[in-house]
Amino acid sequence: MALKQLRSIIFGPSLHMSRDEAMKVFGRDHFKCQYCGLDGLHHFENWLVLTIDHVHPRAHGGARKMDNLVTACRPCNLMKGKHIFASFEQAKKFVLEKREEWHKLYREQTKA
Ligand SMILES: [Zn+2]
Repeated sequence: MALKQLRSIIFGPSLHMSRDEAMKVFGRDHFKCQYCGLDGLHHFENWLVLTIDHVHPRAHGGARKMDNLVTACRPCNLMKGKHIFASFEQAKKFVLEKREEWHKLYREQTKA
């Protein structure tokens, strides 16, 4: 038996999504962060920070299904964290408010 099969029997499905699975989500979302709108196709550096976000977090039983997955840049994904939201719209509102808080701090620090 292949080690991979054995692992999956013992530990369940892999925690990491395959590149093909991720590309399906990126493709559907046109390689744009669904929270802040960062365009992953505009620049390689943008593309590098694209991640897959589980709208309902995996840590809370969120399924790895297309309707629970969105393209998110790494900062947005981190800001959203493992919070639970009733809808994607609420998650987006939360993330955008967090971004604004951080942006405010950034502006204060760079004012000088
Ligand atoms: Zn983003």
